[in-house]
Amino acid sequence: MRRPIVIANWKMNKTVSEALQFVEECRKGLKEVSLDSVDVILSPPFTALKAVSDTIGRSDNLYLAAQNLFWEEKGAYTGEVSAAMLSDCGCKYVIIGHSERRQHFGETDEGINKKIKRALYGNMKPVFCVGETLQQRDDEQTFKVVGSQVEKGIDGLSEEAISSAIIAYEPVWAIGTGRNATPEQAEEVHGFIRSHLRETYGRSVAETVRILYGGSVTPENIRALIKEPDIDGALVGGASLNADSFVRIVVGAINTKH
Ligand code: PEP
Repeated sequence: MRRPIVIANWKMNKTVSEALQFVEECRKGLKEVSLDSVDVILSPPFTALKAVSDTIGRSDNLYLAAQNLFWEEKGAYTGEVSAAMLSDCGCKYVIIGHSERRQHFGETDEGINKKIKRALYGNMKPVFCVGETLQQRDDEQTFKVVGSQVEKGIDGLSEEAISSAIIAYEPVWAIGTGRNATPEQAEEVHGFIRSHLRETYGRSVAETVRILYGGSVTPENIRALIKEPDIDGALVGGASLNADSFVRIVVGAINTKH
């Protein structure tokens, strides 16, 4: 049984005090909820990572993800952040290759592959994002695009490395649009990604890797999505900015998957 994961991706939102307020509200909302069977991860902007890390205790069962890293170890890369720096701030996970980074910052499959390797080398679990645009879906290119992103992103990863990676299928047309993929549409692509992993690494590795869905996830649609056999959790943007709706998504995921 793969352990479900729910990630709050705050993108470029929340100051330190807003982030801390969210954690406080989230902690209250999850007080009666057992998080023993789910990984709940917060992904604040870089500026709030340390403060959030310092406030979450072991018993909160909350983990931290960064929203990006750079693939070099250190040096003259103004504005970039290294794996060691993120680890030092308490990050166990890092989101890599989000479509907003591909779209606005020109990230390529090759660069994403280097970032994934750096994250793994630095003992962080990469949350590797893939997904097609609306045009590509309309042109029936979804499997070709997602297959190629997956193949290039994980190129050169060992069985052990891929087993600790997380893949997030995020159709670009569903991100921040209020239009989520239907459970059937999402499952079709998740199943495709898992079969790709099976062909490359074999059945047992493919069954280990967790594949999350992202794109307009809400408290209302999480249950139907996570009920699907190959959907192991959610990467949540807009609906994770409010502690109440994020808590309801976490609860929905736990109640449905167990
Ligand atoms: C995201 O940014 O990863 C995301 C899925 O955003 P939203 O939930 O707002 O669609």
